[in-house]
Amino acid sequence: MKLLSGFMDLIYPSRCGVCGVFLREDGVIHEGQELDLCRPCFNSFVDVGSPICPVCGKPFASGAGEDHLCADCLATKPFFAIARAPYLYEGLLMTAIHELKYARKTYLARFLGPLLASYAAGWLGGPDGLLIMPVPLHPRRLRKRGFNQSLLLARHVAFSLKADLDYLSLRRTRFTQPQTALSSEERKRNVRKAFDVVNTAGYRRRTVLLIDDVATTGSTLNECAGVLKKAGVKDVYCLTLARTATG
Ligand SMILES: [Zn+2]
Ligand SMILES: [Zn+2]
Repeated sequence: MKLLSGFMDLIYPSRCGVCGVFLREDGVIHEGQELDLCRPCFNSFVDVGSPICPVCGKPFASGAGEDHLCADCLATKPFFAIARAPYLYEGLLMTAIHELKYARKTYLARFLGPLLASYAAGWLGGPDGLLIMPVPLHPRRLRKRGFNQSLLLARHVAFSLKADLDYLSLRRTRFTQPQTALSSEERKRNVRKAFDVVNTAGYRRRTVLLIDDVATTGSTLNECAGVLKKAGVKDVYCLTLARTATG
């Protein structure tokens, strides 16, 4: 196998999924796994650092002081217990997520997925009975795109945490406009009653880890968490690869 992969490296040397540079010895080895990502690209990803809101994970612009509840979480407690993201949605990571979704570069999930998975393992350990669910796409959007980027990421997380993966029970039943150009209030309205759940017996009293690629205001995650809690889920945790610095 090693000989074969060495031979394949000669014919098809690995390249960084973001910038395309050939990877020799300078690829990123993360948690013992070699990623198709060069060190300069990886180093450009910006960690979400304290101070953050301990509930929704929003980073505070001041950059100083202790973690504390944000105004939104103080005003209305979200349906999810905690939301976290390892990286800020900016720079090369933003480009990579964008290309994964809109340029159909699904191979980018081969390193974005393991990065998210290793963060999840550090954050959650190996919790018993955790059920992983990707935020679903509406069937119309899924047909057009051909894949759900959140499921591509969630598969890595489920594998790494040895957790069950359920990508069928949570469904997007209403076709919604992309959230990108909308204000915070419009985003909430846009996703209201957009999801439902089936097969409720399978996850009642379990903790669900919702996975999405990016969080902005958290309204999609919160809407999903709301229907899951209503259906009898014990707790909902949310994990996205990136989140915006404000919003
Ligand atoms: Zn690179
Ligand atoms: Zn908050």
